[in-house]
Amino acid sequence: MRAVAVLPGKPNTVHVRDVPAPRLTDQPHPHVCHVPEGRGVLVRTLQIGVDATDREINEALYGNPPPGGDHLVIGHESFGQVLEVGNRVTEVRPGDYVSCTVRRPGGSIHDKIGRNDITGEEVYYERGINLCHGFLTESFVDDAEYIVKVPQGLKHLGVLAEPASVCAKAIEQAFLAQQRLQVWHPRRAFVLGAGQIGLLATMMLRLRGLEVYTLATKPAPNLKADIAGGYGATYVSTRQTPLAELAREVGRPDLIVEATGNAEACFRAMEVLAINGVLVWTSITGGKHDVTVDAAKINLEWVLGNKLLVASVNGNRRHFELGLQALAHGELTYPGITQRILTHPVSGLDGYREMMRLLEEKDALKVFVDVAG
Ligand code: BGC
Ligand code: ZN
Repeated sequence: MRAVAVLPGKPNTVHVRDVPAPRLTDQPHPHVCHVPEGRGVLVRTLQIGVDATDREINEALYGNPPPGGDHLVIGHESFGQVLEVGNRVTEVRPGDYVSCTVRRPGGSIHDKIGRNDITGEEVYYERGINLCHGFLTESFVDDAEYIVKVPQGLKHLGVLAEPASVCAKAIEQAFLAQQRLQVWHPRRAFVLGAGQIGLLATMMLRLRGLEVYTLATKPAPNLKADIAGGYGATYVSTRQTPLAELAREVGRPDLIVEATGNAEACFRAMEVLAINGVLVWTSITGGKHDVTVDAAKINLEWVLGNKLLVASVNGNRRHFELGLQALAHGELTYPGITQRILTHPVSGLDGYREMMRLLEEKDALKVFVDVAG
């Protein structure tokens, strides 16, 4: 069967190659973990989303092949339909729609309790990203432990299961961490960035009843502004109203979700957070970027204001479930809005060049491959 792969370490090597079709009883990552007898699930791939991580992997900034090989099959945002299950699988059956988690457990205590999203080890194993093959293939197999059922009524949003898990985890981490305050009733949130994570965060925070300002560079009208508005948030172009000015006008935010991919934005966010507030960083910024900030002022305000910074990456199966619940809740509350994120379908695995090209386009909110064409 065919798969889209790169040669990590060498820039711009994305290609289609022939790989063995997986069977139900295969061990997909024998160097990391073992699928227990009868617990395999074989999935036919329907759609795979791609994001900046895939672009960076193709630029050789990120990612490693599984040991013993030189290629890495990419794709970590999966959506498919179950073809076959082992005799000890009760959670899903053939025909069910599913997504699959990204990380596989290492050896730390958190890996052992199902929290591989907060592994204590430097090396992490991620399908389609680091040391494990991904999902941009015709079919894949994995342990039922990592397969997450997507409700039939959400199949049009199934390809957003993974980004929604990342978002749901980040927001949950912020609320969990704020239990330090004993009482915390956040009113105002700023979401920095209106890519898929920024928009999904906007939706999830609106569903929690916050007043949300979603910030991006481009002035409205544009699709991002329409989607943010559709969720009942206020879209702000930082070209028209810079971050500091917005905070002066509407008040400092109790919660900031940073999802810009820009290292400076991470630190500028520190300058506007309210007393007792929490800032969540979700961007993964490659390369080097020096920024000048008034560190004394930030330190003073942060200490005197008991402020908190939480960084968050990845999502485990419980976060996938939370993300899917939020997508369902969002669909009922703001019908038809979330699917507008799915801007750029690519037809078939052969469209891989087009897929990489679209990842460069500013207006491509979500690029995804319709694997069956
Ligand atoms: C993925 C996460 C992953 C992270 C770090 C992101 O693009 O969505 O699942 O943990 O990259 O590799
Ligand atoms: Zn990703």
